[in-house]
Parts: sequence; C-alpha cells; structure tokens
Amino acid sequence: MDPTGHIFGVDDLIIAVVIGAALGAASSAARGGNILQGMAMGALGGLCGGLGAWAGSAIGPAWGWQFAGSIVGGAVGGAANSAIMHGNVGLGALTGAIGGAISYGVSALNHELIGNYVENLKELGIGAGVAAAGGAAGGATASAIEGGNVAEGALLGGATGGGGFALLGTPDLIRNQPGQNSGFRVTGGTDADRARADQALADLSQNKDSAEVVRVMKARGVEINIDPNLQNGSYYNGRVTWNPYFHIQANSGTTITPTAVLGHELNHALAPNLGSVLHTIRFGRYNNLEEYRVIAGWERSYLMRQGLAPRTDHGAASWWIER
Ligand SMILES: [Zn+2]
Repeated sequence: MDPTGHIFGVDDLIIAVVIGAALGAASSAARGGNILQGMAMGALGGLCGGLGAWAGSAIGPAWGWQFAGSIVGGAVGGAANSAIMHGNVGLGALTGAIGGAISYGVSALNHELIGNYVENLKELGIGAGVAAAGGAAGGATASAIEGGNVAEGALLGGATGGGGFALLGTPDLIRNQPGQNSGFRVTGGTDADRARADQALADLSQNKDSAEVVRVMKARGVEINIDPNLQNGSYYNGRVTWNPYFHIQANSGTTITPTAVLGHELNHALAPNLGSVLHTIRFGRYNNLEEYRVIAGWERSYLMRQGLAPRTDHGAASWWIER
C-alpha cells in the first residue's frame, strides 16, 4: 500500500469497473442468473465505487478518504443495482461495499507493484494475477453472501478479473515499448541548458511517481525543446517546451521550480488524447479539467512529498527567470 502517494486516476477507475464486473458475473453465476447482465450491473457498481474513491481523494490526500469513498460508492452502486433488479437492497449494498474495498486494494497493490503503466510481460502478468486474486476473493464472498456456489463464484470472479486486466493492460504494454529514442531527445539551448534538463530529469527520477512519468515519456519518444526566454512551460504534439530557468511563485506560497514545471508538462504529455478533451472543459480556478488533472494529481503528490503546499489553482502570484 502507498498511503500517501497513491493518486486516483483513470486507470483505477478501469480496475474498479473490471473487478465490479467480475463480482457481478460471479454473483449471477452463484444465483443461476444471467451472467452477462450480472457483469454489466457489477461494472456499474464498480464505476460507482471508482467515482466514490475519486470523490474521497478530492476531500483529502489521506488514503483513508479514498478507501472510504470506494466502499460508500460501491455500496450505493450495489444498492441501486438491487433496487433496479427488485432484489434485496441491503444485500446489494453489502456486496457492493465489499467490491469497493477489494477494488481499492487491487488498485493500490498494483500501483505499488507495477506502477501506473504496464511496461513488460512480467508486469502484465503480475497485474493480471493480482486482479484475478481480487476477483476470486470477491466472487467467493459474493457467492457466500448470496448462498450460491462459492467455488464457482471464485473461479468466475478470478477469470473475469484477471482476463479484464490483461485485456486493458495489453494496449499499455504495446504503447510503452521503448521506441526509436532510448534517451530523451533534448533540443535547443546551449550545452549548459541541456545539462539542466538532464539534471531535472535525474531529480524527477528520485521519487516513484515522477520516475515513472520520466521512464514512460522517454520510452514514448517525447521531445524536450529548450527555450530559455519562455515565460511558461507547454506541451503540444509530442513536444514539451521548457525553460530551465523559469520559476513560479504559486498562490499557495510554494515556489514551483523549473524541475517541477518539467514534471508538470511531462504529465500533460502522458495522456495527450484525454488531455485534449479535458482541455476544452472549463474548470474554475484551474482554468480547465486537464490542468486540474495534472495540478491536483501528480503535482500535488510531488509537492506534498517534499512538505510543500500544493497549488489549488492554475494561477501564480509572480514568476521570474533566474539563471
Ligand atoms: Zn499545465
């Protein structure tokens, strides 16, 4: 478990849906019901659990909020499912709550073991194994609660959980294979400027979350283009434009260093398609949802690990270029 640094992301939402589907399928099998329908209802329950965890992580950074959110969301989803199916609402809520807790555990354990992105076959295997074990545990529990065949529930839950993870992890595996660029392509600037980029990347590689972002972006061949006069940082179309001397004084009082700015931009680079959609959605002090995703996600965790106050907006009190 990673009690302080686990960020709830889209990948966790997907895991929650997969585990929910596994649970739903297993519990339908146990009752002798329609397995596909059970799977769909379970997926809906998992989605509720995932959204609950997301809401929990918005309340506070402590892992307990996310865990509680997963359980409450799962219970709400399970109760709603049962109400729709004219089943036992209390039992549905209980099964959903257990599913929410298991999804949280699977997602946190996988984050610890393999990080956010599947990079090799071994990681795909580990992730699928953890998801299968979680699905089996959930399936067995759901079957026991509903008086069905426990072994059958465990088998179906395990197969759905493991298979679902493999299905979702494989595109990551293919996409994250090291490409033409073994190292970062750092362009523009002087030798000294480019040495700053190497140093910033080395510094970012010191903590788990940003090390992973650096590793994955390197494998994907993202370019870092240096502009020592730019009063900002940006990401567009496979290229981060970065000033190794640009600092921001955040409204939270924290100084955002050039290294943190580079980490921020690499996080935009991480999800370019999602980012271009989120970018179009306005979101209060964060300007848009893509900035919220990066600032309240990776950046918050990165700054808090250093004991710094995270930003709560996309603004700045001031900024300067310091060579
Ligand atoms: Zn940004």
